[in-house]
Amino acid sequence: MKTFKSIFEQYNWDAIQSRIYQTTTKDVEQALTRTKRNLDDFLALISPTAQPYLEQMAQQCHELTMKRFGKTIQMYAPLYLSNECQNICTYCGFSLDNKIKRKTLSDAEIKQEAEALKNTGFDHVLLVTGEANYTVNINYFINAIELLKNQFSIISVEVQPLSAEEYQRLHEAGVYSVLVYQETYHQEVYKKYHTKGKKSNFDYRLETPDRIGTAGIHKIGLGVLLGLEDWRTDSFFNALHIDYLQKKYWRTKYSVSFPRLRPAEGIIEPNFIMDDKDLTQLICAYRLWNEDLEISISTRENEKFRNNIIPIGVTSMSAGSKTNPGGYVVDPQSLEQFEISDERSAAAISAVIKHAGYEPVWKDWDKSFSLKS
Ligand code: SF4
Repeated sequence: MKTFKSIFEQYNWDAIQSRIYQTTTKDVEQALTRTKRNLDDFLALISPTAQPYLEQMAQQCHELTMKRFGKTIQMYAPLYLSNECQNICTYCGFSLDNKIKRKTLSDAEIKQEAEALKNTGFDHVLLVTGEANYTVNINYFINAIELLKNQFSIISVEVQPLSAEEYQRLHEAGVYSVLVYQETYHQEVYKKYHTKGKKSNFDYRLETPDRIGTAGIHKIGLGVLLGLEDWRTDSFFNALHIDYLQKKYWRTKYSVSFPRLRPAEGIIEPNFIMDDKDLTQLICAYRLWNEDLEISISTRENEKFRNNIIPIGVTSMSAGSKTNPGGYVVDPQSLEQFEISDERSAAAISAVIKHAGYEPVWKDWDKSFSLKS
């Protein structure tokens, strides 16, 4: 099967990076005036040359988001099921070489954690695990979904890359969306951060969204780990990936997330710093390029940034998150994957969203209807 790899191989990292940094003001101004934008426009809008135009970009981003999504923010919460992992990723607290206590939730513990989230009001849960194929595998996921599917309208997963057949099983079990981040599209640098385990196979990860698309999952979430490499070049490749997928798997919805590298036990410092202004520029560039893309902001981001970005153009937010297995009630002290930045409760975030004139949406009616049809 032809996959994104064949497109990716036609591009060169250094050449794209040079193009981004050689963008002219004319390129940016042309990109801003177009009504239908392409990847060249996206490239211009993420360039340093576009920075003085941020105000104008933010205004357009707001208008396009309002037109397509209205004044709503979808709410979700992660549920970490396991911190077991067979990979070494130098930026992650769950890395195999990190001597921490490992934990995988039992059925009873999954139910307890779910109950706590349900009581907070969540109806969309994102199941997260490390990559431990012997214990946390497709059978474990299917069992967890069975335990949770009557409690939550939407179940999303962020787990190890699976085969197309395994994604098909997740789809049949009721999974709505799958998130998989390439981390970085710089192939050489990728090897330095992923030194051991299945995740060190760059191509297998690169082709994962194709397998998810083939399985017919409703929504695919992509992103890069911002801080590993030059965020502009990495984001161009991420947009290229989304562009390819949207054309090929056109029934599928897409979302993009913007995880900035956060502190965690035993991890490296970011190589590339991305400040709040850069991140705002990137979010605006995605929206101006792609009106249908869902834009998600997690609690990795700080309170001030999350408050300010609401009216500019996000469509979903997590709240009150714990990034450790059992973190809500079962074992709050177990080791977290990374430190969250926005520690406010779900109720507090909900109040902030309402104060900004938006409606926090806990239940995705669109999904409920589509399941019945
Ligand atoms: S990023 Fe994922 S695969 Fe890598 S160590 Fe962390 S949990 Fe494991």
